[in-house]
This record gives sequence, structure tokens and C-alpha cells, in this order.
Amino acid sequence: MTDPIRLGIFGWPVAHSKSPQMHESAAKALGVALRYERFEVAPEGLVDAVLAKHAAGIDGYNVTVPHKVAIMSLVDEVTPAAKSIGAVNTVVQHGGRYLGHNTDAPGLVRSLEEAGVELRGAHVVVLGAGGAARAAVVGLADAGATEIRVLSRRPEQSEALCRSLADAVDCGLESAPLSEAGRHFGGASLLVQATSATLESNPGAQAFADSLPLHALPEGAAVVDMVYKPLETTLLARAAARGFSTIDGLGMLLHQGAIAFEMWTGFEPPLDVMRSALSD
Ligand code: NDP
Repeated sequence: MTDPIRLGIFGWPVAHSKSPQMHESAAKALGVALRYERFEVAPEGLVDAVLAKHAAGIDGYNVTVPHKVAIMSLVDEVTPAAKSIGAVNTVVQHGGRYLGHNTDAPGLVRSLEEAGVELRGAHVVVLGAGGAARAAVVGLADAGATEIRVLSRRPEQSEALCRSLADAVDCGLESAPLSEAGRHFGGASLLVQATSATLESNPGAQAFADSLPLHALPEGAAVVDMVYKPLETTLLARAAARGFSTIDGLGMLLHQGAIAFEMWTGFEPPLDVMRSALSD
């Protein structure tokens, strides 16, 4: 019998992660031996925990909140895209060296393509200026968006994001305060919600959705919310009620995992199996 591919996810907390069942059920469907564990590690324990797994020859792993930035200095190399985004969520071992990738950006792109959203020539408005927003900007620019506007409640945050990504992306990139959303929604073909404001744990989720001037979006615009808890966020419910096509955050979660699975195993990921493991 061959040794199983050894994988895991570093996070704090990480008990809620559905990545173990997503990857293990995909491997089972393909008849591949694979073990995927949760590594619940506090920030102060990350260096020792990661170096111990490297020394033990782990084949690869995911990294989630709050370690996506800190992991960058612990791996041997980081891809240029992950460097631009400033975050690594997937690490792959090649011949004893650990390479850090960001699969959130292509994961978002694939989920939008799967939903039939035209990204070439898209005019995009991104809400938020954290790591998820940075991944959206890099991924959508790579996919051919013509113009991206990044709106944040603290304007200095989106200004800093745009300044730092200006050389990494080949499209128009502008920042603006979220309070001026009405002026920017009018020309958007795609609205990307990349804040944590619509999480079900946030008591202000409804107020956040109500404050957005969705009436200003052009007919035919698509709205994606990266948050997947709940699947239908307050924003998506309002957007659907206005007749916009809506895409939830589960597709991005699925595709970032599918891209990682393919890099780790070399097998084409069984998307339906992975999708149903996430929905259980
Ligand atoms: P960060 O904490 O790095 O950034 C969160 C951003 O949201 C900040 O810009 C923050 O602004 C803003 N924000 C929070 N609350 C509000 C509010 N009420 N109004 C306006 N802005 C607000 O988180 P990430 O960027 O890593 O992730 C954002 C969300 O994306 C997460 O909730 C996560 O669920 C989702 N995500 C989904 C993925 C998927 O696979 N579907 C992958 C990655 C992320 P401020 O700094 O002012 O607080």
C-alpha cells in the first residue's frame, strides 16, 4: 500500500473548517490515499508548528485566518501573485521545498466564470480592502477586467490597497470611500462584496446591506458575496429581489480548494463530490 498524501489546515480557530471533508471525500471518490488534518495553532505557536510539519515532510497544507500573512516568511518561496496579494492560503511541497500560493484569487475567478459572469472588459466595484479584496483585485485584473474600483469605510485602507497593487495589475484601479458608493455603482458590471460585514455573526449585517445603493447598479449587473455563512447574505437577498444575478461565496471556497487539490494530488478534482461535502 502506498503512503497517504499528508495534508492539513493551519488556523485559529479551525474546528469549523469543512476543508478536511472536502479533500478527503474527493480523494475517496478517486481512490487516492489522502489524510487531511486540522492544526489548531495560536499565532505565537505558528513558527514551531509549521517547521515541525516541514521537518516531518508534510506534502502540503492550507492556511486560514489569522495565519495567511505570517506563513509567507515560513515557506521557501512565494508565487508572484501571492506576493502581490500579500497572503498565502495553500502550500505545496516540491522536492522538500515548500511553495506558497494564493488560490483564493483564481478560486473567485472560476466561481464567477462558472456562473456565466463575463470578466473580460468587466467594470468591477470591490467592497472592502482586506486580504479577500486584494485577492479579488489581482484575480479579476488577471482575468481581464478593464476597471476596478475599491471602496472601503476607512478611505485610507482602499487608497493603500490601490497604491500597493498599481504596478501588479494591468487595468484601471481607483479607490473611493464606501460612503460614495452611489457614484461608483452606476458603471459597474460586477459588484464584489469582500468585507466581513455580511457574516451571520455580525449584528450589523442587515444595516450594511440596507446602506448600499443597489438601485444605482445597471440592469444586468452581477453581485457576488464572498461570505458563505450564511449562503444567502443580506446583500444577496436584496440584490436578488432587485433582479440582479447573484453568486454566493461557496463557489469561491470550492474552487480555491479544487485548485489546491489538483496541485497536491495531480488529479482533476471531482467538483460535484467536493461541492456536496461543503454543503453537508
Ligand atoms: P479582513 O479582516 O482582512 O478584511 C475585512 C474587511 O471588511 C476590512 O476592509 C474591514 O474594514 C471591512 N469591514 C468589516 N466590517 C465592515 C462594515 N460593517 N462595513 C464596511 N466594511 C467592513 O478579512 P478578509 O479580507 O480576509 O475576508 C473578508 C471576508 O471574505 C471574510 O468574512 C470571509 O468570510 C470572506 N472570504 C471568503 C472566501 C471564500 O472562499 N468564499 C475566501 C476568503 C475570504 P475595517 O478594516 O474598517 O474593519
